[in-house]
Amino acid sequence: MRIGAIEAGGTKIVCGIGNEYGIIEDRIHFPTEQPEPTMEKVILYFQDKGVEAIGIGTFGPINLDRNSDQYGYVTTTPKQGWSGHPFLSTLKTAINVPYGWDTDVNAAAYGEVMWGAAQGLDSCVYYTIGTGIGVGVYSEGKIVHGLVHPEGGHLLVRRHKDDVFEGLCPYHGDCLEGMAAGPALEARWNKKGSHLPIDHPAWQMEAFYIGQAITGAILMLSPQKIILGGGVMHQQQLFSMIRDEVQRNLNGYVNSETILTNIDEYIVPPNLGDNAGLCGALALGLAAAKHGG
Ligand code: ADP
Ligand code: ZN
Repeated sequence: MRIGAIEAGGTKIVCGIGNEYGIIEDRIHFPTEQPEPTMEKVILYFQDKGVEAIGIGTFGPINLDRNSDQYGYVTTTPKQGWSGHPFLSTLKTAINVPYGWDTDVNAAAYGEVMWGAAQGLDSCVYYTIGTGIGVGVYSEGKIVHGLVHPEGGHLLVRRHKDDVFEGLCPYHGDCLEGMAAGPALEARWNKKGSHLPIDHPAWQMEAFYIGQAITGAILMLSPQKIILGGGVMHQQQLFSMIRDEVQRNLNGYVNSETILTNIDEYIVPPNLGDNAGLCGALALGLAAAKHGG
């Protein structure tokens, strides 16, 4: 099969072609500019590729309600020019194939279930901790939508006792994203995360916030795997610190060997590496090819 995949991020858009085995055969990327010139490039790329379907995993928030006349729109994003943009119909008008459409993080969760760290499981939660914090949820064999879609990056968190940083979220100030995304780290410590030494107190504080959010996810959703991706998670030392925080928070209450003794295999990095986002979009495209979209 020949399936198109689009990973639309706040800074760049990656387009690619892949197959039903999760293999990416071709890829291209360009900066996310205003919608019109950006979409022109996307259409140009796919025009002569003969794809059977296209999957899109995009930054949001987005409209996922098939009964809405704004299905396929980007909704309230602060990203200039994109709020109210009919992303899906713009593409569909130019290239009329079935489409899969979801958030970048839901797509990444789905890709990891198909071919990565959660392969074969019927639930997982995927976090990206980068410029923002996004959460994708897969549960009982399905991507979770609901009223809108999960927005776990904006969970309210308890403040660390040594933290006086006010937080950066334009909506909530000191929510999880406001306290623990890459820009918050940089603003709190006056240094890019990648320039902080691995024994810096920043990482303990970072693990404290991420650990809280994951504890909440475990208690609410009981996922079989938790996957942590995004630029900040390049700091490998965070994994064991976060696992410790989660065990400390749960304090033995969730009576599962997975958490009590095998947590190293439970809270893990993505298995699809640099292709995680694009593979997620590919998985959405594949589902659209099979079931229509
Ligand atoms: P995006 O979220 O924009 O798609 P990334 O997932 O790469 O992109 O996240 C970018 C953020 O991650 C930036 O705030 C950057 O400072 C931070 N970051 C990137 N690499 C590292 C690193 N090695 N250690 C800590 N923070 C990092
Ligand atoms: Zn927020």
